[in-house]
Amino acid sequence: MSEPSIFTRILTGDIPGEILLETERIFAIRDINPQAPLHVLIIPKTEDYRDVTELAAGDPDLLAEMVAVAQRLADEHANGEYRLIFNKGASAAQSVFHVHAHVLGNFEENKLVG
Ligand code: 5GP
Repeated sequence: MSEPSIFTRILTGDIPGEILLETERIFAIRDINPQAPLHVLIIPKTEDYRDVTELAAGDPDLLAEMVAVAQRLADEHANGEYRLIFNKGASAAQSVFHVHAHVLGNFEENKLVG
C-alpha cells in the first residue's frame, strides 16, 4: 500500500490545514502557495484517481460534484465567479497525483494576476 497523499494527510489531521468545506465525498483547503486572492483546492476523499482524465472516465458524477463545490466556494468566498484549473501530468505542472481542482477567484475585474 502506498503512502497517503499530502491531501489525505491534511484530511486525517496528520498535518495541519484548514478545511474550508467538506461533503461526504469531497473536501476543500486553501492552497499553501496562493496564486490568486482566492485559491482553494477541491479534492475527492478517494485517492483512486490520479488526475482529471482518470476521474472523468471512472466517476463523472464525482467530477460534477467538484464543479458544484467550486460554485459553493465562489458563492461563499468570492462574488460567485471563479476560475477552475486541473493540471494533468508533470509537464503541465501537476505535482500531487491525487486528483484536485484549483479554484481561483477575487481577481481584479478582467485581470488574471498572480
Ligand atoms: P498541482 O501542482 O499538483 O496541480 O497542485 C498542487 C498544489 O498543492 C500546489 O498549488 C501546492 O501549492 C499545494 N500544496 C502542496 N503542499 C501543500 C500543503 O501541505 N498544504 C496545502 N494547503 N497546499 C499544498
